[in-house]
Amino acid sequence: MGIVGASIACISCVTVATPVWARATLQAWQYDPQGQRLEFRTDRPTQPQVQVIGAQRVVIDLPDTRWPQPQSQQNFGTTQVRVAQYQPDVARLVLAVPEAINPAQVRLQPQGHQGWTVVWGTATQAKTMLQAAQWQSPGILLRLSTPGVVGRVLRSKDKQWLYIDLPNTAVSGSFQNQTRPYNLRVEPGLTGNLRLALEVKTSDPDWQLRATPQGLLLARPTSAPSIARTTPPSRPKTTTPKSIPPTATRPSSPPPRTANKTRYTVLIDPGHGGPDPGAIGRGGIQEKEIVLDISRRVARLLEAQGVRAVLSRTQDVDLDLEPRVALAERVNATLFVSIHANAISMSRPEVNGLETYYYQNGQWLARSIHQNLRQTTNAPDRGVRQARFYVLRRSSMRATLVEVGYVTGAQDAPRLASSSYRQKVAQGIAQGIIRYLDNLAKK
Ligand SMILES: [Zn+2]
Repeated sequence: MGIVGASIACISCVTVATPVWARATLQAWQYDPQGQRLEFRTDRPTQPQVQVIGAQRVVIDLPDTRWPQPQSQQNFGTTQVRVAQYQPDVARLVLAVPEAINPAQVRLQPQGHQGWTVVWGTATQAKTMLQAAQWQSPGILLRLSTPGVVGRVLRSKDKQWLYIDLPNTAVSGSFQNQTRPYNLRVEPGLTGNLRLALEVKTSDPDWQLRATPQGLLLARPTSAPSIARTTPPSRPKTTTPKSIPPTATRPSSPPPRTANKTRYTVLIDPGHGGPDPGAIGRGGIQEKEIVLDISRRVARLLEAQGVRAVLSRTQDVDLDLEPRVALAERVNATLFVSIHANAISMSRPEVNGLETYYYQNGQWLARSIHQNLRQTTNAPDRGVRQARFYVLRRSSMRATLVEVGYVTGAQDAPRLASSSYRQKVAQGIAQGIIRYLDNLAKK
């Protein structure tokens, strides 16, 4: 049973306000056999959970959601969709298909903040597996399990993206994306064909594919140095705290300001990563990159104050929700701080600002961070709220989830894209944590 946790995490960014007592209604669903997609819509925010069960079924559970009609099922050729009230407070959609589903290719994509699309691919149709994508000057090597794949390269209308289509190819379950500093992502799509998207400079010529013994090499036709780097390539890594193992030696820190704080460990959890970009906003900014950068800055600021900071991920890697919580337990973290960016429909640029969430025991931590964030950023205040996010429910320590702004917001997006603003955000979060720990130490 594969649980598509990385995709579920994304929903936290679009849940605008979900008090724990909220009850949503599943209003409509639609199956599109051509595009292999299932769409559904609720009247209030909810957090769908997707599982692949028994290889041929995708199960989507909507917690705190009602299905107001009788149980129903519809057949579309050999595919069947069933909808029912699975438990008194859980509505369930089941998609049964005739072929084995590749769990790595199941994606839950938010559409607005109360609609979702589920897309999937089947494992059996693909002849070739994409095992890794690696930047190896002068190009990106696509490691494939079989030789002789003939791919094609297309260009987006705005010239910002190259699309690489590989026929009869699927992403391997152990796929590794090591294309930094280039931004290469896997696009969800039709069964049997794989589409990759590479971000390029609009002035860049089209890259070309050529066969190598390991697969296909995607390279620029000229040897001139290039292009759209997602982060400065020479970021000093020495100050980044290690995430695993917890006992790894850490860089030496300045003397702690308050001796008491040294006994505390804070787990900083940048949301999403790897094939799960989280929310994508104005100018193509991606939540996973913004929150990783902010998290690294928070960790550095905490370490400078003598507080041990552990990052759940230090790179652009795929990370499920469960191991994030498990790591926090393993390092015996005092606090768990998950960092996300928010999103709403692109047609709502007026929605901007900070939201901080807690579930049970993190209320004062959430308030401390929220208050300090408001001071360092001056961003609109959208409140401290209670919500049932997985990482908040499942962690035993005091936990909070910070939404640092809306990547879809006309005000927030350009600010989040600037490193000086991200530093202000990091300062607000770190200050909120330090002040909270100072109070804890006094007790
Ligand atoms: Zn998120």
